[in-house]
Amino acid sequence: MARILITSAIPYINGIKHLGNLVGSQLPADLYARFCRARGDEVMFICATDEHGTPAELAAAKAGKPVAEYCAEMHEVQKGLSEGFRLSFDKFGRSSSPQNHALTQYFAGRLADNGYIEEVTEKQVYSNADGRFLPDRYIEGTCPNCGYDKARGDQCENCTKQLDPTDLIDPRSAISGSTDLEVRETKHLYLRQSALKDRLDAWIDEKTDWPVLTTSIAKKWLHDGDGLQDRGITRDLDWGVPVKKGDADWPGMEGKVFYVWFDAPIEYIAATKEWSDEKGLDDGAWQRWWRTDKGAEDVRYVQFMGKDNVPFHTLSFPATIIGSGDPWKLVDYIKSFNYLNYDGGQFSTSQGRGVFMDQALDILPADYWRWWLLSHAPENSDSEFTWENFQASVNKDLADVLGNFVSRVTKFCRSKFGETVPEGGETGPREAALIADLSKRLDAYQAHMEAIDVRKASSELRAMWAAGNEYLQEAAPWSVFKEDEAAAAAIIRLSLNLIRLYGVLSAPFIPDASAEMLKAMGAEDAAWPKDIAGALAALPAGQAFTVPENLFRKISDDEREDWQSRFSGVRT
Ligand SMILES: [Zn+2]
Repeated sequence: MARILITSAIPYINGIKHLGNLVGSQLPADLYARFCRARGDEVMFICATDEHGTPAELAAAKAGKPVAEYCAEMHEVQKGLSEGFRLSFDKFGRSSSPQNHALTQYFAGRLADNGYIEEVTEKQVYSNADGRFLPDRYIEGTCPNCGYDKARGDQCENCTKQLDPTDLIDPRSAISGSTDLEVRETKHLYLRQSALKDRLDAWIDEKTDWPVLTTSIAKKWLHDGDGLQDRGITRDLDWGVPVKKGDADWPGMEGKVFYVWFDAPIEYIAATKEWSDEKGLDDGAWQRWWRTDKGAEDVRYVQFMGKDNVPFHTLSFPATIIGSGDPWKLVDYIKSFNYLNYDGGQFSTSQGRGVFMDQALDILPADYWRWWLLSHAPENSDSEFTWENFQASVNKDLADVLGNFVSRVTKFCRSKFGETVPEGGETGPREAALIADLSKRLDAYQAHMEAIDVRKASSELRAMWAAGNEYLQEAAPWSVFKEDEAAAAAIIRLSLNLIRLYGVLSAPFIPDASAEMLKAMGAEDAAWPKDIAGALAALPAGQAFTVPENLFRKISDDEREDWQSRFSGVRT
């Protein structure tokens, strides 16, 4: 039994995520977690909401709520949706938790002790009316390039020109509208990533098994231009982790918080402590996952994320961990994803283009989305969601192949033998051939899952469903029954066992339908199969079963057209 620590990139708090976000980290992470657990590994699967920073403050202001209240509410919304998609986190934490505050302050203190923090004085815009420094995006004014009067201090939304706040004509505070602004000096902390560059470079060189997408992005940031740059880890904001050196105050940093990018990945560790605190366990319970001096030396740590998150996870977070000088667990494998596009364009949160997690569950059960998204995961290149493809995949793979097999077998058995596994008859060469084929495919399926090749794994699973269908078609128990009832019974007994086997093997992809199949077969043994022949003898003759309701329904052309127009943009 192995011990596997799995983290999914943590979603930002300000709104409901779309399906492209879901398939870029949380969903494949869940697939892998379920597979590892099914095989008997000990798994710790962690995710959380990323709650600090300017966008959270802005979203809360827009909603007319205090930021802490806004984040608490949105956390519950995101948690509910992750449960709706059956994401099997051991803990879905919050980066605003007291545990993360303490750990972030601890790491900053360790980094400072080891000489990896530099204090830098900068010039920044201060608003007298608001009594605070304003981040670039909190300053609005007229764009010098196009004349748009709501340009932000970092960029003009209208002409996309990158701006400095001092470029704006008639600048004002986006919070109060005040024009009483001045440039003041302020002090910030920088993480000296440049001083850790060679150690990071050597560490990444050891990772010969990582996907090229992951290592190429890391190498680019390490070596392009002037190489890896130092990075500010503090902000002049109210909402966040107050800057402290461990437990102690940090002179000159009063009223400042850590930059969200610094505290967010530390939440992976903090969420594990949230998990153990919630269960009333002592610190050893979470430390055995994260501290190599406290039991984590045999843990395999796998991270899932979209490609935009790779620099943080290959460089910034490891710089924090290595720079601390403590024996924290570093990541062993990073699975990164390209982007999922939507119907000829991109998903857009601001324009409401595409399907969002809440809408998806409103129109179809989670398994339909899980199957399509995972079997089309953007692994080697960007991939695209189209309604035609979604309809075809659901109707064929789930309804025609898997659902139809379950329905035909159980209904035929009920009508001829009743609702128990029939006895009698012998299996022959056709069954031996099926077992040989499935055995080969099971090996391939497991190998792809172990390598986290999501699409290839889905193809093997689909092929195993199809093999059962073909077997049933060729064995034709409905014809055999007229000549030889016992021979038909043997075919159906094997087929009912196939339904149980599909219930076990499909669970990482489609957990709800799998549970239904296992329940209908009255299967007490849902253990991962050691070999196909044994697995297909698990349900004995005489075992009672029930005929499940239609496992999957088909998507009609009318529905497809309706959804296509409904999700084309302008979400309200
Ligand atoms: Zn402009």
